[in-house]
Amino acid sequence: MTQATQIMGITFPKRTLDETIQEISEVVGQNRSELCHVVTGNPEIVMACQHDKELRTIVEEAGLVTADGIGIVMVSKVRGGSLPERVTGCDLLFKLLEGNADSMQKWTFYLLGADEETSKKAVEVITQKYPNVTIVGRHHGYFKPEEDQAIVDEIGSLAPDFLIVALGAPRAERWIYKYKHELNARVAIGVGGSLDVVAGKVKRAPKMWQKLHMEWLYRLLKQPSRWRRQLILPRFALKAVFYKK
Ligand code: UDP
Repeated sequence: MTQATQIMGITFPKRTLDETIQEISEVVGQNRSELCHVVTGNPEIVMACQHDKELRTIVEEAGLVTADGIGIVMVSKVRGGSLPERVTGCDLLFKLLEGNADSMQKWTFYLLGADEETSKKAVEVITQKYPNVTIVGRHHGYFKPEEDQAIVDEIGSLAPDFLIVALGAPRAERWIYKYKHELNARVAIGVGGSLDVVAGKVKRAPKMWQKLHMEWLYRLLKQPSRWRRQLILPRFALKAVFYKK
């Protein structure tokens, strides 16, 4: 049984990125009939779960919750729960794309989200760079609710190993949860803006910034319009450190 820690009532298993990838690979190998929903739990999601019951249910019912962000890891350390490291949607996506080198079977991916140009470019980049994966389908993320069913049906008929949902959080989580019984995918992950990174539209922080746990600052400097969203980080830290059950 994997150890876990609680942050503001949300359970985070103590897993490194590699252990998470290992677990996800096992899920794919098991050919389960039920979709495994991976939620990358960032401070915004944890905060929203405090008042949004539906989102809380989605997170509680997820197959796997990962520590998305240094804020989550730091709070866990202060509270004695010690999560080993960040496991972000972007890290997961890149590792999964690289990951299946020694298996004869290619993993299949469906990419949902980002704008049309970015979505196309992401497929191009992945096809060139990662010969061990097959992209079976894609759809941009700017669709109306009445288009949901056609997209769900397409994904269901393609039955990908991985459904990558880049619609931003928590829209991705809600979308996956709503349709999880129809999607016919083994694993579905909300990955925020990661397709923008894959396509080269947005640059990820250099490794040194990541090592210094300053990726949030790099993002803020590159996309100053995010400042309002990032205000939640100090609020989260204060609330989470002093959170009483
Ligand atoms: N997006 C989308 N449809 C929408 C709104 C956003 O596909 O209606 C995409 C957007 O193009 C971007 C991603 O969702 O690729 C959101 O990125 P962001 O970095 O804001 O997400 P976060 O990591 O904060 O969840």
